Amino acid sequence: MKDTVITPHTLFANLGLTEAELTGGTLTVHSPIDGRALADLHETPASDMDAILARSKAAFKAWRIVPAPRRGELIRLLGEELRAAKDDLGALVSWEAGKITSEGLGEVQEMIDICDFAVGLSRQLYGLTIASERPGHRMMETWQPAGPVGVISAFNFPVAVWSWNAALALVCGDPVIWKPSEKSPLTALACQKIFDRALVRFGDAPDGLLQTLIGGADLGKSLVASEDVPIISATGSTRMGRAVAPVVAERFGKCILELGGNNAMIVGPSADLEMAVRAIVFSAVGTAGQRCTTLRRLIVHNSIREDLVARLKKAYAGLPVGNPLEEGTLVGPLVDAEAGAAMTAALDAARVEGGTVHGGNRVTKGVPANGVYMEPAIVEMPGQSATVKAETFAPILYVLGYDDFAHALDLQNDVPQGLSSCVFTLNMREAEEFLSPAGSDCGIANVNIGPSGAEIGGAFGGEKETGGGRESGSDAWKSYMRRQTNTVNYSAELPLAQGVKFDI
Ligand code: NAD
Repeated sequence: MKDTVITPHTLFANLGLTEAELTGGTLTVHSPIDGRALADLHETPASDMDAILARSKAAFKAWRIVPAPRRGELIRLLGEELRAAKDDLGALVSWEAGKITSEGLGEVQEMIDICDFAVGLSRQLYGLTIASERPGHRMMETWQPAGPVGVISAFNFPVAVWSWNAALALVCGDPVIWKPSEKSPLTALACQKIFDRALVRFGDAPDGLLQTLIGGADLGKSLVASEDVPIISATGSTRMGRAVAPVVAERFGKCILELGGNNAMIVGPSADLEMAVRAIVFSAVGTAGQRCTTLRRLIVHNSIREDLVARLKKAYAGLPVGNPLEEGTLVGPLVDAEAGAAMTAALDAARVEGGTVHGGNRVTKGVPANGVYMEPAIVEMPGQSATVKAETFAPILYVLGYDDFAHALDLQNDVPQGLSSCVFTLNMREAEEFLSPAGSDCGIANVNIGPSGAEIGGAFGGEKETGGGRESGSDAWKSYMRRQTNTVNYSAELPLAQGVKFDI
């Protein structure tokens, strides 16, 4: 590796992670770049959970009465600390999750953006005033802090997803207990340090506003089962969501689920193909196909299918696959050997279903040893088979043809997941139909822009097996608060609603 690349140890020092924290533990963290062991972290003992929950409950009692704009000040300071740490944290994201440099930095920028959003929000947690049917009465709706929020996050956005949740939860008055992925706990520890620096500058925050749990699914399970945690925000696979949702429902907690996607692009005959190609390549191979919003299905009008596939094959042939820290690389490694095997298995299954596979081989030359580097694959499919309907977390783009726009919409919606979608067309009727009630059934639907790379200003999330949760912008903050309807009687009478008489 070139010596211009900053080493993990320099990053640890810059971010304030100590030798004692990084050695001697049982959770070995490997870099997807070259498989090297980055650290042996100490896992949070299950026996600590009671104390962690108690600390969070106590923090809630104190934090909920701090005025929301003052709570926003903590997030403003967090944004400042993130700005100062952006280069180091972004590089650590690359080391731990295998993202190319600009995507690692982009992830931290997203954290800064949500902090800015949350600071503004802290002065706008608006409720409603409602007309009362009774004379001398006033009705309103207020939003109250809800309690500790458990955040469970996935490896592929190791820090941004936490920040979407934490920035909103904290201005809403809720402490956070974070269980990051066991594949990416180092960046989480770094975020805890960055947060702690903001806390010191803030001055008088209660202890336990943010606690980070290091370990695997079992720790997540105890968080999910705890009645002390009214809100669970869980990001990850549909498999994980299926395990989490019933446990939270059983205890009448609230779930914000952000699960798998199987995102499609419809390309109509009028589409600007040059733009479409650029959008397809970024959405399908960016982050090595390991985004929840990665483009996985290309539904293209048969009149342009051959032309578009030829352009894509040409673009794919020139894609620089390699060390994500080196300038010019666009496709980094998959997270681990299991992910590589899942990609190969999906391509084998697609072949059995009649698919023609272009690419998809393991790359071994010119890449660091012990990383799992794969050529992104284009797979021409005869139909939407079982393999196409499943999310394989790898750079595989299935191509399906259509003749009739209604059929394209049916294909787009005929998968279990419902996260992100888009249409490329210059035909206004197609564009509007795609966004209409009879159009895309996803949480995100775009026109002439790919399905991946959302801005934080909009609510983020999806339907069906994606889980139905919404995070980030718009009014997603409401999920982190308790809604309360208030009626105030300022008259000297006690009239009942609906004209009911009950005189005593
Ligand atoms: P994963 O489901 O394997 O793990 C996610 C997290 O859940 C980890 O922290 C893990 O320890 C925890 N976990 C697993 N089982 C649990 C259980 N029973 N109870 C509590 N916690 C449990 O997912 P991954 O491989 O880290 O991430 C990839 C997946 O995440 C993909 O399916 C991707 O689409 C999805 N994802 C979705 C979004 C979104 O916003 N919709 C964003 C990022 C990733």
